[in-house]
Amino acid sequence: MEPAKNNVDRKTLDQRQQMTELQRLRHSCAHILATAVLRLWPEVLLDIGPPTDEGFYYDFDHAQHRFSPDDFARIEEEMRKVIKENQVFERSIKTREEAHEYFFSRGQKFKVERLSDIPGGEAISFYQNGDFVDLCAGPHVMRTGNVKAFKILRVASAYYRGNEKNPQLQRIYGTAFGNKTELEAWLQAQEEAKRRDHRKIGKEMGLFAFDEDVGPGLPLWLPKGTVLVEELEKLAKETEFAAGYSRVRTPHLARESMYKTSGHLPMYAESMFPPIELYEHGNVDGKEAKLRYYIKPMNCPHHHKIFAAEPRSYRDLPLRLAEYGTCYRYEQSGELLGLMRVRSMQMNDAHIYCTAEQFAAEFQAVNEMYLKYFKIFGFEKYQMRFSTHDPAKLGEKFVNEPELWLKTEDMVREVLKSSGINYVEVPNEAAFYGPKIDVQVWSIIGREFTIATNQVDFAVPRKFGLVYKTRDNTEATPLCIHRAPLGTHERFIGFLIEHYAGNFPLWLAPEQVRLLPLGDGPVEHARALCSQLRGLGIRAEVDASNDKIGGKIRDAETDKVHAMLILGGKEIEAGTVSVRIHGKADQGSHPWDLVKNALVESIRNRNEFSINKP
Ligand SMILES: [Zn+2]
Ligand SMILES: [Zn+2]
Repeated sequence: MEPAKNNVDRKTLDQRQQMTELQRLRHSCAHILATAVLRLWPEVLLDIGPPTDEGFYYDFDHAQHRFSPDDFARIEEEMRKVIKENQVFERSIKTREEAHEYFFSRGQKFKVERLSDIPGGEAISFYQNGDFVDLCAGPHVMRTGNVKAFKILRVASAYYRGNEKNPQLQRIYGTAFGNKTELEAWLQAQEEAKRRDHRKIGKEMGLFAFDEDVGPGLPLWLPKGTVLVEELEKLAKETEFAAGYSRVRTPHLARESMYKTSGHLPMYAESMFPPIELYEHGNVDGKEAKLRYYIKPMNCPHHHKIFAAEPRSYRDLPLRLAEYGTCYRYEQSGELLGLMRVRSMQMNDAHIYCTAEQFAAEFQAVNEMYLKYFKIFGFEKYQMRFSTHDPAKLGEKFVNEPELWLKTEDMVREVLKSSGINYVEVPNEAAFYGPKIDVQVWSIIGREFTIATNQVDFAVPRKFGLVYKTRDNTEATPLCIHRAPLGTHERFIGFLIEHYAGNFPLWLAPEQVRLLPLGDGPVEHARALCSQLRGLGIRAEVDASNDKIGGKIRDAETDKVHAMLILGGKEIEAGTVSVRIHGKADQGSHPWDLVKNALVESIRNRNEFSINKP
């Protein structure tokens, strides 16, 4: 049965607005891909073809043919024909029987199954371009000719309906843009992102490693990567100290009872490592009882216990407890990805316990800390996503405290507005215990990254029975702000590697300075200068090899050493060194003390290293 022509109607504006213009274009291109594939392999089975963040895909099943990049040129050629034919995308409404008959008679079993997903009473719409007909809610662009630039990207297996019990389909990915310039720019950005991939650079620079015996998702920080970790901790400790935080240290595991209080059990059990069971004396009714310990998935409960460890009064508030705490989460193995998705992570964590009156100032200070960090790392574009509750879901998705929700959300909104921070408000996405803020930044090449989540928590302190004595000697429960501006070392460093392409600024560079003596003569002198620098805490080395100076410079550039100091007989006599900065031109010869002081200053201020010409 061919789709009846009498039912054809144009899309309404409403329907078009469900997708952005670009998504509509890409979804239409997915249909063009399916049109071409069906022409070339008429027996192919079709599933679905939605738009994605990077473009679109279409899922196919073919018993005899495995699609490979060798097919791409042919498929693209056929797609170009479909585009040139400038077919109209026509929508039609079918009865369930008509739709069923259409796909059943063609052996399109996935389409038949997808049809049964459409609830009774909902319109069953087809879209047709040329001979190609698809079960589709739309919307589409007007004609195939509207697709001006596209490319097939890759092919991969994908389980039907994303369920690994189902058969594997072949997913062909592609992208489409409004014009060729945009497509080219996007492809180039993809290449650049590949060049900056933190897994690739991490390996080349010797920053971190994974090992089968250690386990998936458990990174080993190599010496150079450890420098990055420790420099970030130093930054955090200095910044937090100046902002009035106190440092604490907590164990990596705790008894089951604590995670029951916190609500991690059973709510979060799937993301936790399974328990360690042991017999311990006398916990239950004085008898030996089997107890369970869990490795911590978060630092919060331990910090709450530190709050509870001593009597607190309003004079102790705000109490800001900070720890670079190590947490463990059982991420699915399929989700693990380099440093970006791991099972052990060190978090730039802190919990601020305060009164409602103190909240705005504390929250403001946290935001300012973020902005300070953004400046240091050169993140020029950022956004805060402020997730709020939905009053209709109190008591199920959100803790049932209507007044506290409104009050804390107002406080957060007020601070965001008054400080002129770039933010968007997202209803219905708050955490169970309070409103949250996800902080997103964009790298130099425009890659988006969620650094961290700040959360206002007005429920858990109560669960833990946290109280302080108020001014009039009554007891009250503090509010708690969870914050982690530098996220976890793993994700943050993964992001920094891509942001800087491994060319870290002087203060972060694993090897900050390398002295390059010209020939044998100045080696001893270079060693003496090197030890002066190391005495100042600067990570300096000497290249005492027999290589020619050109080779030494090349090696230092390859190793991404930030500053190269070259010295020969002439420099020794004049008391100078010749300076090169990684990736930049020769900076000329300068007096040793000037160079040394400039290094110290740049590292202390964490800014760009430069030598002022005398
Ligand atoms: Zn469609
Ligand atoms: Zn927390």
